[in-house]
Amino acid sequence: MSIESPPSSGHEGKSFAETALALGGKSADEARRTGAIDTADDQVEALFAPQYQTVNSPAHRAVWDRGVPVELFQSSTPVTPPEVQKVMDDSVAVAQLHKAAGTLHNEEGKFTDAILNELGAVGYWGLLVDKEYGGSGAPFSSFASFLTRMALVDPTIAGLASVHGCIGAVDPVRTFGNAEQKQRFLPGLANGSRLSAFALTEPCAGSDLTALRTTAVRDGEDYVVNGEKLFITNVVPGRTIGLVCLIEGKPAVLIVELPKQENEQFQLRKYGLWALKHTYNRGIIFRDFRVPAANLLAAPRGDGLTIAYHGLNLGRVALCANAAGTGGARSCGSALPGTIAALGATRRQ
Ligand SMILES: Cc1cc2nc3c(=O)[nH]c(=O)nc-3n(C[C@H](O)[C@H](O)[C@H](O)COP(=O)(O)OP(=O)(O)OC[C@H]3O[C@@H](n4cnc5c(N)ncnc54)[C@H](O)[C@@H]3O)c2cc1C
Repeated sequence: MSIESPPSSGHEGKSFAETALALGGKSADEARRTGAIDTADDQVEALFAPQYQTVNSPAHRAVWDRGVPVELFQSSTPVTPPEVQKVMDDSVAVAQLHKAAGTLHNEEGKFTDAILNELGAVGYWGLLVDKEYGGSGAPFSSFASFLTRMALVDPTIAGLASVHGCIGAVDPVRTFGNAEQKQRFLPGLANGSRLSAFALTEPCAGSDLTALRTTAVRDGEDYVVNGEKLFITNVVPGRTIGLVCLIEGKPAVLIVELPKQENEQFQLRKYGLWALKHTYNRGIIFRDFRVPAANLLAAPRGDGLTIAYHGLNLGRVALCANAAGTGGARSCGSALPGTIAALGATRRQ
């Protein structure tokens, strides 16, 4: 059964969302802003092999084909290599031990350095990092279903693996980094000496990512960053972040190794955000903060939003698995195995 193509919009060069919103009477500005987000999503999709693109997904075809492709909804159990399975088993054992002993959290109610380090020692933070950089190169389908298992012990520890490995610095560097950047960043990300976060949201730029105001301006061998980020999960001095900022007016991603202590150029805004009460979620303020120009990632198409959406898409599935495991998102969980299987090979072609 063939899949019908949408009719030509007559607005070539614009995304479907932008065209539809404009035709629906929305202002040119609203159509352009929403269209920019839609385009970033499309650009990520174009990085995937055809069988993993939305139009070929079981759910999309069930809606648009004149029949439901039932066979595509069957999921296969992920095949987990023994060395990856050992990392997973050891990680669960570390979490269980601390949970039973009541030693998961420090006096602020956040995870202790001891447990984060012990998880690093058994390979937890390197699950999605390739072997040549010190990780175990877990297949994504194994990783996502493993998070369900970890979430039964502690949902926030499971969530942090997704923050670090998908939306944090691991996915942006392994998918979009050059050879030198991979060599420089991935070993520390794999062993957990550099845990990571992703800094996209800003005051006034949450859903509307075209409103970003944080800038990075080239000065010699560095970029000089000014601006403020908000709601950043897992941000602590000394960690590594994927920072989305504007370079010459376009969104870009810089990998930033945060200083070990706050200073004039780098400060954290502290508040209580109880959705993730056992991990840190803070704002970041940059004032003339210097980042080596060699830390800029390059997107093969699109811009920094493409890099951001690649990790967000992986993170969405991984967190879904996590929530499904804790009973928090049953509707998502029921559709999950097929989705995970489909994402098992979401790698750049
Ligand atoms: C627990 C938690 C962890 C987070 N971790 C991170 C992180 O690690 N890194 C990071 O970068 N960000 C993080 N965020 C930020 C998160 O991505 C943003 O909160 C999210 O993008 C929404 O942005 P906002 O809060 O500014 O809400 P807004 O964009 O201001 O939206 C507010 C409300 O308006 C609605 N709305 C917005 N625009 C429209 C529209 N055009 N039409 C109709 N309704 C609309 C929204 O649906 C929402 O209900 C986190 C947030 C939370 C709560």
